[in-house]
Amino acid sequence: MRNTSSIAYISLGSNIGDSPACMDEALRLTAAISGVKVAAVSGRWRTEPQDDKNQPWFVNQAAALYTGLAPLDLLKLLQGVENALGRVREWGRRFGPRTIDLDILLYERQDGLEQGAWLEISLPELTLPHPRFRRRAFVLVPLREVAAKTSTKLLAETQAALDKLDYRLEGDRIFQA
Ligand code: ATP
Ligand code: CA
Ligand code: CA
Repeated sequence: MRNTSSIAYISLGSNIGDSPACMDEALRLTAAISGVKVAAVSGRWRTEPQDDKNQPWFVNQAAALYTGLAPLDLLKLLQGVENALGRVREWGRRFGPRTIDLDILLYERQDGLEQGAWLEISLPELTLPHPRFRRRAFVLVPLREVAAKTSTKLLAETQAALDKLDYRLEGDRIFQA
């Protein structure tokens, strides 16, 4: 394995087919990537679709990965996992149904001068931090669970972001207006 000097936080979402099985497989394939080690995972939450309401509920999860891969390389490999699970992009339909969606939320170098800061990237194919995750309870709630295992800084950040949102939890379900 290559060095694992960074930590990347990712979110997983699925709302087609056997979502728990898709997420098991996505995590298995992600853990099998050379240069990636799964550091922590959240539980699975069920969430109401937000932008495009005309689709089934989602299963959402978050994970922390130790990685030596550069962010763009990690993105390409995660897109390979999406493709391996048969994700088909419906043309013109953003936020629509999917077997698996893997997003990189945050990426932190664990060595060097940037320690403690989230890497910022603004490219057509990759924006970091993920531009929308701080307003999504379905991302923040699982991420908070992961943060409780990995980072007091991230735990405080996710809690602060959730405090600004109008959402509610019922068992394993997340509702957000
Ligand atoms: P959202 O990003 O709002 O959650 P989405 O996940 O449904 O929407 P996709 O269709 O999966 O959007 O992705 C569109 C493109 O977003 C991808 O092809 C990818 O290149 C780009 N992208 C930009 N930043 C990121 C990121 N941080 N993680 C994953 N993909 C990203
Ligand atoms: Ca997404
Ligand atoms: Ca995505």
